[in-house]
Amino acid sequence: MTQKIVVAGSGFAGMWAAIAAARAVSLAGKQNEVEITIVSPAPQLHIRPRLYETVFEEMAPDIAPLLEAVGVRHLAGTVEAIHARSHEVEVLGTGGERTTLPYDRFVLATGSRLFLPNVPGLKEHAFNVDQLSSAIALDAHLKALASKPETAARNTVVVAGGGFTGIETVTEMPQRLRAIFGQDAKIRVVVVEQAPVIGPDLGPVPRPVIEEALAECGVEVRTSTGAAAIDAAGVTLSTGERIETQTVVWTAGARANPLAAQIEGEHDRFGRVHADPYLRAKSAKDIFVTGDVALAATDGEGNVASMSCQHAMVLGRVAGHNAAAELVGLPVHPYSQPKYVTCLDLGPWGAIFTEGWDRQVRLTRHQGKAVKREINTKWIYPPQADRDAAFALANPAHVIVA
Ligand SMILES: Cc1cc2nc3c(=O)[nH]c(=O)nc-3n(C[C@H](O)[C@H](O)[C@H](O)COP(=O)(O)OP(=O)(O)OC[C@H]3O[C@@H](n4cnc5c(N)ncnc54)[C@H](O)[C@@H]3O)c2cc1C
Repeated sequence: MTQKIVVAGSGFAGMWAAIAAARAVSLAGKQNEVEITIVSPAPQLHIRPRLYETVFEEMAPDIAPLLEAVGVRHLAGTVEAIHARSHEVEVLGTGGERTTLPYDRFVLATGSRLFLPNVPGLKEHAFNVDQLSSAIALDAHLKALASKPETAARNTVVVAGGGFTGIETVTEMPQRLRAIFGQDAKIRVVVVEQAPVIGPDLGPVPRPVIEEALAECGVEVRTSTGAAAIDAAGVTLSTGERIETQTVVWTAGARANPLAAQIEGEHDRFGRVHADPYLRAKSAKDIFVTGDVALAATDGEGNVASMSCQHAMVLGRVAGHNAAAELVGLPVHPYSQPKYVTCLDLGPWGAIFTEGWDRQVRLTRHQGKAVKREINTKWIYPPQADRDAAFALANPAHVIVA
């Protein structure tokens, strides 16, 4: 009887999990004995790390030919429920039909989404760059502002959240607004961060460089304050300051996809499922968790994978390999990713490239930007629809640096 692997999600983790599973099955010569299905709304890889940018043509590469080349079936829909005891998932097809898929091994790779706290007006009035559709909606809004009468509120953008995404979004914003309103337009761009410092999770080492870039890009920084209420005409900060603006971009905080909550056992504060060294959910040995839904140790020194593309790609390869290896009699592969780098885009200033968990600065300005460009236009993109080339990259021992 054919054994079944079901992967939920075709992001960085899910796509690589499906290819790595196909590679393991192929290595064992058991292509006719194992069926691999990936479930997601569309056979596309959404390039989420680039959604702070301004051109969206290359942000959703079609991976249907790649999946076909490696022998993976795509099912268009979303997984709605996981039944660990009966080894089934319920799928809602994009056409509205409901299906139950049995599995021998299930890989949860449904990623993360922006967390929206209970701030008055946030859901109604704020924009974000978390998903392709929301980044496109922000872009359309900014371009539509150009036909409205010029006011301070029209020409002001407030980015709420001064973390990784907030910094990339806000440093890009002044030149983005000038491209829309004209080079001489009087624009105002503000980043608001609740912590006492900008980039609180990035640590102290790169901070002076980030602060220099923010200043040079003309971004106003407000720390130790948050957005307390948002309306169509502006934002009121927790300090009481009022900023008139028609554009608030919310970037503060991601949470694991809600499906992760359906897996029993421990979850971290982001909703991620605790994984064992082989990326199995600790509560269900036939379920693997990967990418942004997984809490996994990267080394023996207490570091854990961040919600990042850098980790999702390797986590995906390991989870997919192990899901198949167990079925076809190959050794499983422990997850390990001791090398950690960060490459933060800082708009026209350039970018900063750091190494290590303490983020030692290695490259800045145009040298950093050159690395960021490589990452954003090459390294994170899917491989060509060539079975051998894709399998070579899907080796779980293949570690990428960014
Ligand atoms: C603006 C921005 C900038 C970023 N910058 C960086 C960066 O510079 N470096 C970096 O490493 N990371 C960065 N990240 C984070 C990175 O994008 C994520 O960590 C990465 O996308 C996680 O990969 P994933 O495969 O786990 O999830 P995702 O890429 O989110 O993919 C999830 C997949 O699951 C699908 N899905 C969702 N729900 C279901 C369901 N119920 N059933 C089936 N399928 C489902 C989705 O359609 C998608 O295909 C950034 C993110 C953003 C938003």
